[in-house]
Amino acid sequence: MITTAPAAPGARCLICLHPLRTEEAHRTACDRCGHRIRAWLRELHRQLPLLTASLSRDTAPAQGRPGGRAHAPLPVREDVLSLLGPAAPGTVRDTRGDQSGPAPALAVIHAWAERLAEARDKRLPPYRPGHDYTRYLAAHLPYALTRDWIADLHTELAELIGRIRAITRTTPQRRPQPAPCPSCQSFGLVAEDWQPYTECTTCGLLLTRAEYSDHHARVMPGLYRMGLRLTLARHTTTEPTP
Ligand SMILES: [Zn+2]
Ligand SMILES: [Zn+2]
Repeated sequence: MITTAPAAPGARCLICLHPLRTEEAHRTACDRCGHRIRAWLRELHRQLPLLTASLSRDTAPAQGRPGGRAHAPLPVREDVLSLLGPAAPGTVRDTRGDQSGPAPALAVIHAWAERLAEARDKRLPPYRPGHDYTRYLAAHLPYALTRDWIADLHTELAELIGRIRAITRTTPQRRPQPAPCPSCQSFGLVAEDWQPYTECTTCGLLLTRAEYSDHHARVMPGLYRMGLRLTLARHTTTEPTP
């Protein structure tokens, strides 16, 4: 379970600006933002094949025209094409904001993997067709969460995932949970597809699925009983007296 308190004095998450907890004080971003980035990386890995499948206008698999054409009408969707390429490894990347317009998905991911490898003084594993660097980024995320560019990574991944979801129409569903938050008691707990945590939208508490499940099993029978008693009491008090 991850709570939002107590805070280390002064230090704040560069992404959400919430105070960092004592155990997060050596980092530049909090656990919650780190988990969000990790979930996006996992989602990106699953979304990329869906994006490729969305290339053709009739949504059939692409017919081998990755280069596109100069004149309309294109047999493929231009918005998808611009996200899918060009992403040739080894070109100049845009992690420092020197490219105008949206960058292709693989290029954004690759650029951040390169930046991470560079910061760690390591060589990036060679690019293979059909491969993306989301797992590499996830594996090195604990280090990235100590860097001052973590907010830039967060922003670029957020933009990328938003653009891809709009095309593949696979926005993760958010489902309000019936049990109240064990920390602030509000009915603000929400579970979301591909997110490992159930999150309280009121106080920011994060619960693993197992923690929520235990909590649900503990509190819901009592809540049902209380609801039943309240209903009965209301029914009794509205009975006309003889
Ligand atoms: Zn944060
Ligand atoms: Zn709460």
